[in-house]
Amino acid sequence: EAAHERYRDANPRSYQQHRKAAEVLPGGNTRTVLYSDPFPITLASAEGCRVTSLDGKEYVDYLGEFTAGLYGHSDPLLREAVESALQSGWVRGGHIEQEEKLARLICDRFPSIERVRFTNSGTEATLYAISAVRAISGRSKVLVFDGAYHGGVFVFKTVQNPLTAPFDFVVAPYNDWDGTRALLEANAQALSCVLIEPMQGSGGCIPASPSFLRQLRDWTEQNGVTLIFDEVMTSRLSGGGLQEMYGITPDITTLGKYIGAGFSFGAFGGREDLMSHFDPSRVGAFSHAGTFNNNVFTMTAGAVGLEKVFTPIIAEQLTERGNSLRERLNEIAAQASFPMQFTGVGSLMNVHMCGGEIESVRDLTGSDMNLRDLFYFDLIERGIWPARRGMFNLSLPMGVLEFSVLEEAVKDFVRVRSKLF
Ligand code: PLP
Repeated sequence: EAAHERYRDANPRSYQQHRKAAEVLPGGNTRTVLYSDPFPITLASAEGCRVTSLDGKEYVDYLGEFTAGLYGHSDPLLREAVESALQSGWVRGGHIEQEEKLARLICDRFPSIERVRFTNSGTEATLYAISAVRAISGRSKVLVFDGAYHGGVFVFKTVQNPLTAPFDFVVAPYNDWDGTRALLEANAQALSCVLIEPMQGSGGCIPASPSFLRQLRDWTEQNGVTLIFDEVMTSRLSGGGLQEMYGITPDITTLGKYIGAGFSFGAFGGREDLMSHFDPSRVGAFSHAGTFNNNVFTMTAGAVGLEKVFTPIIAEQLTERGNSLRERLNEIAAQASFPMQFTGVGSLMNVHMCGGEIESVRDLTGSDMNLRDLFYFDLIERGIWPARRGMFNLSLPMGVLEFSVLEEAVKDFVRVRSKLF
């Protein structure tokens, strides 16, 4: 209550804006993940790796647009790319050179992707990937995992999600091979594909063990079931995503987020024989049209981003920096024997208020949500902008200063809260 009160007092303009928005948007909201009790703070501008609220307060941007903000807010090469797009007209209704360029960069980098098609979001990429595989295989079921998030309507957290109704999903236990194998075998004849995040992002930055992914790869290959990796979030973790880091190649991969350089983006790609069903010159080709699939801003800035800014070497460096920050944060909590840990890989992490190994959302039942909320309000007061559910994403402009701001915040939180335990 006290935290809410201080928050309300510190952000009067955001409160006012929220009330105005609620007159025309349900709950003042068009993105559920940005909702925050008692009301969300409205942002007025952004620069580098910082965002500024309508109330004039500056924050270090650890939310990083849920990983789409990898480049930060002011990269000069991306700005130049966007300006060139502005000069050349941006609603052309024809093919543009940059779509081939971005597609080639993606095919060169991701081991599983021989051909790729663009969408406007990761959600759409999921939709097309599973719809295509269902049509190709003539089988209806899709095996997914508890805790998974594959886009707005494809949420498999603990509560039943009524929006997934049109599809026939089988939900298997993440990182549990025996439990998963039993479901694979029971559904083998009807299964079109297995869809998995090699690290669950929205579920709490919980990595799949490489051996679990390997077992899935082997079983799907032996049983003629398509394996889809959703690398919408994890594609940044090396030059070619987690599939490259682990040396495990799925049949199809979905992408999204930062690859559009901050503009609406999604993609699905994979083996040539699967993707060729979308070749319009082929008899019986699948239709995949989308007014904005090759929008000029996304294609132009996206290609410049992958070619010149987020090169494979930079990707590896960012992953190393993220790993060492996460180790330092975990060390702070471990030294105080405080029930708090940061899970994840590289530049993507999530805080959980519990001890013990976290291998799936099933291990989060003991996580203290009140403590997590207090941590959130504490960070907001200190000028740090994390996702409400405790996700922290690094961006390229971040450096030692921004990392130490978070380390100090964790130190203070652990010190103050340890006394109260
Ligand atoms: N898949 C994963 C793993 C995601 O994390 C997300 C978004 O957070 C999506 C798909 C959906 O992407 P979008 O928000 O662009 O629809």
